[in-house]
Amino acid sequence: MSITMSRGQAYVQRLNDERNVWLDGERIQVTGHQAFQGTLQTIEGLFNLVDDPETRETVAYWDEQTGSYVHRSFLVPRSLPDVNSRADAFRLWADRTYGVMSRLSDYARSRLTGWYATRHEMTAHDPAFAGKISAYFEQAKRNDAFLTIVQRDPQINRSLPVGEDEDAMLRIVKSNAEGVVIRGAKMVATAAPYADDIIAYPVQRIPGHLPELAHMVIVAAGSPGLHMMCRESFATKDTDKSHLLSAQYDEMDAVLFFDDVFVPWERVLLHNNPEAVWQIRCNTASASLAYHQSVIRLHSKLEFITAVTSAIAKEIGVDSFLNVQEQLGELISQMQTIEGLIIAAEAQSKPDAFGNWLPEFKYIETARNLGNRYYPRAVEILKTIAAGGLIQIPSGTFEMNEKMGSMIGKYLGGVTMQAPEKIRLFQLAWELTGSPLGARHDLYERFYAGDPVRNRANQYVQYDKERLLGKVEPWLRRSLKD
Ligand SMILES: Cc1cc2nc3c(=O)[nH]c(=O)nc-3n(C[C@H](O)[C@H](O)[C@H](O)COP(=O)(O)OP(=O)(O)OC[C@H]3O[C@@H](n4cnc5c(N)ncnc54)[C@H](O)[C@@H]3O)c2cc1C
Repeated sequence: MSITMSRGQAYVQRLNDERNVWLDGERIQVTGHQAFQGTLQTIEGLFNLVDDPETRETVAYWDEQTGSYVHRSFLVPRSLPDVNSRADAFRLWADRTYGVMSRLSDYARSRLTGWYATRHEMTAHDPAFAGKISAYFEQAKRNDAFLTIVQRDPQINRSLPVGEDEDAMLRIVKSNAEGVVIRGAKMVATAAPYADDIIAYPVQRIPGHLPELAHMVIVAAGSPGLHMMCRESFATKDTDKSHLLSAQYDEMDAVLFFDDVFVPWERVLLHNNPEAVWQIRCNTASASLAYHQSVIRLHSKLEFITAVTSAIAKEIGVDSFLNVQEQLGELISQMQTIEGLIIAAEAQSKPDAFGNWLPEFKYIETARNLGNRYYPRAVEILKTIAAGGLIQIPSGTFEMNEKMGSMIGKYLGGVTMQAPEKIRLFQLAWELTGSPLGARHDLYERFYAGDPVRNRANQYVQYDKERLLGKVEPWLRRSLKD
């Protein structure tokens, strides 16, 4: 009897290559390491939804080129129903992981889809780009590739002008007929240790006189010379059942060291080309498709934290107090604001010059820029309402000895819940607020899309202010005597 691997198993199997993943000072095999077990199981399950008859039509579409079902993040939207169907696929993965896993590759795949869909725009900058990105897009679709993106250089001395700490920046040190050799470092690359490929390009504008720093490359995660240095793992031991979110959903973050990594020419999408790399960085199709996924995930996460906070308020009997209701109302208005912006972005989606239907970016951008304040505020509200209860969670198992068990049962129950359920609820709340996973999520929502200060400022800079100023102007012409 032949045993065929599921799509998820095939993905996990692919990670058994020579990749250099460093954790706790040692080079480790991700598939065999306890720190990655829960996360890989989660991703395996999500990948399998593409073939599950119950979820397949939501999460995937039939792709003629590959003759297979493909995740909808690869779908180039050509109509409003396409935009909505991509949203349904994002929502399904996000809801299954409570919005806690952000880089399940649907973000990076969507960026790729956007660049592919608008590839001809780049021909003036580099005639080879369209062919290269088409070939890679088809390959990634066919291989169901798990992708991630990294843009930032290491935080050494941000006061230096671009290029002055050139040694740290990713650059080409050699090239020949087959490809290039790159050296340097990048941060932060979420999910890189278990990705198939990593897409790297600079986040900042590279000045025209430094073309050697302006590239866009796609690097296989198992490339010799690429070292992925993980932060500490938050996935707790198998035996610990009190950190269930961390055990299942710790998407790892890593710093990448490129110690002379070979990249074949077909994966060097742009080369020595500051203007072209800047166009890629600013590409609206790619940003609109990818952040559409991000804000749908954010909405799932806000729903989850609102659910946990509401359950706690009810269980400790504070949900009838006006101040508590006001804070719960704030959580609901956060959730509904993001939901409303997603609806508006989809309803106002329209075709670009190439016939791609794109969610309206101004609403996606607003949702994204609100998210970096909303989520930290949601965590603050959960802490304010749960208060000392977050610290009265017993460590270890609570079915200890008979005497302790009966006292826990007597003193740690809630309005309707018995002690075991209420302890579970507070464990969940602690994971969102006080655990290393919770702290990482607070930081993630603030920074994942880049510097929130510059992102918001950019929204002002890009806005058509003439129209606004026009509303003030008639008042300026009125005589002070009127
Ligand atoms: C958990 C996590 C996961 C992430 N995952 C990814 C990922 O997978 N891929 C990816 O590409 N990115 C990822 N990011 C985002 C990215 O790596 C950066 O965190 C983000 O772009 C901000 O840059 P920085 O952290 O280097 O902060 P810095 O740029 O060093 O900023 C530090 C502080 O200085 C201020 N500052 C810095 N420069 C200036 C300036 N010129 N003018 C004014 N103020 C300034 C900033 O406002 C900020 O307060 C992730 C971030 C986090 C926190």
